[in-house]
This record gives sequence, structure tokens and C-alpha cells, in this order.
Amino acid sequence: MLDKKVALVTGASRGIGAGVAKKLAADGSFVVVNYNGSKERAEGVVDEIRAAGGEAVAMQCDVSDFDACGAFITEIVKTYGRLDILVNNAGITKDGLLMKMSESDFDAVISTNLKGAFNTIRHVSRQLLKQRSGRIINISSVSGLLGNAGQANYAASKAGVIGLTRSVARELASRQITVNAVAPGFVGTEMIEAMTDSAKEAMTGMIPFGRIGEPEEIAETVAFLASDNARYITGQVIAVDGGMSIGC
Ligand code: NAP
Repeated sequence: MLDKKVALVTGASRGIGAGVAKKLAADGSFVVVNYNGSKERAEGVVDEIRAAGGEAVAMQCDVSDFDACGAFITEIVKTYGRLDILVNNAGITKDGLLMKMSESDFDAVISTNLKGAFNTIRHVSRQLLKQRSGRIINISSVSGLLGNAGQANYAASKAGVIGLTRSVARELASRQITVNAVAPGFVGTEMIEAMTDSAKEAMTGMIPFGRIGEPEEIAETVAFLASDNARYITGQVIAVDGGMSIGC
């Protein structure tokens, strides 16, 4: 059994997930860096964590697969003895206007972004209940709060994550397990690379801070929610978005 906290960060091979994995490791957790297809990049994140004096391991699992998530989480608990922090970060986009959106693009985004979070929470909960402690942090999005033209599937998945967060928070509260969501605004990762420069400019124009966020700025809030300092916070959605969702 490890003497440090064990954290699982889904979709940690790059972007926000990689930033969260590095921050949690720097704060003293042993981190499972999850990926689906990007093995080498996940191993690169692990190398960076180890070079900085932290501990981590890369492990594959497709979060949209319920049974695979069960086997994955069983393996983590069996190997490392416990699981203290779950960060549901894995996410995809398949943008398009509603009139042109295919059923498969709707289903794929819901399966990864919303059902993926359910899958891991469902399998992790038994262990957290047994430990009578734990932290679950789900990555939602400002799109889930405001809606976004061209992202009906994505916004629905991210709004769903908020409902999931609040419901599970109520169910697990009696055992002092906290469940919260972080809703990033517009963050500089590969997820936004597909956007045209004019779309990026229009989006940046909606940010009161006048700039795109960095993965590290999301990671700071996730790490706070994962810490003992946040022990009395549950069922909340914290927007980290340079003011994009002020008033929501
Ligand atoms: P990203 O750079 O595209 O990275 C996505 C990560 O998710 C990758 O590590 C990818 O790993 C993993 N992933 C995708 N499908 C997976 C699956 N089925 N199982 C396991 N891992 C999977 O995205 P990002 O911008 O860092 O976004 C991270 C999270 O923040 C997402 O939930 C996203 O919706 C949310 N978010 C992002 C922004 C933004 O502006 N960037 C804003 C609000 C919210 P593989 O390559 O191995 O599949």
C-alpha cells in the first residue's frame, strides 16, 4: 500500500489533463495518467512528473467503455491499495450545427464526456465509500453553462456532467466524499486548434480578461478541490474562465 494519496486523472496525455496530473503529483499524490490512444504522450507526461521528483504511471482505458472502466479501477486499487482522487477530464468534441449533426457525432460526445464520467464514478464509488473519504472532480465547461452554437452535443454532455456532479455529491456526502465540477472557459490546448483564427478571435472577445486560459490555471483549481482545504465544499461548479460566465 502506498503511503501517499492515489489520484486518477482521465485523459491526461495532453492539455488540461496533463496539467492536472503534473500539479497533483507536485502536490504529493501518486498519479495514474490515463489515456485512450496516445500511449507515448502519456508516457511523456509520466517522464516529466518523475523528472520533477513525483510519482506516476501511465495506464490505458477507454472511459466510454463501462466494463473496461470496471477492470481498470479494480486494477488500480489492487496494485496501489487505494484510490483517493478521481478527476474526470477525458473529453472530445464533434462540433457542427444541429441541422447537420449526425446521430453518431451526438452519441460519441455523450459517451465519452458524460457516460465516461458516470462509468468511472460508478466503479470508484465503492472504494471511496469503503475508505470513507475521497474527492471526485469532474471537468465540465462554460459551454455547459451558457450553451454554444455548433456544440449542442458537447454543451449537453457538459451540462449533464453538472447534474451528475450535484446528484452524486448528495449521495456520497454522508461519508465525507466531495464531488465538484470545474467549468473551464476557453483554454489553449489541442482541443481548440481546429478552430479558425476568426472563431478564436470571436471567442476571445467574449472573455472579460481578454485572453485564453492556460491548462495550469485549471489545474490550480482542481488541485485545491482535491486538497484537504476544500473538505467542506461539495456539489459546486467553479468556473475558471476569465469571467466568461459572470452572471450565470
Ligand atoms: P485535449 O487536448 O483534446 O485532450 C483530451 C484528452 O482526453 C486526451 O488526453 C485524450 O487522450 C483523452 N481522451 C479522449 N477520449 C478518451 C477516452 N474515450 N478515454 C480516455 N481518454 C480519452 O482536450 P483539453 O482541451 O485538454 O480538454 C480536457 C477537458 O477539458 C475535456 O473534458 C474538455 O471538454 C474540457 N474543456 C476544455 C476546454 C478548452 O478550451 N480546451 C474548455 C472547457 C472544457 P487520447 O489521445 O489518448 O485519446
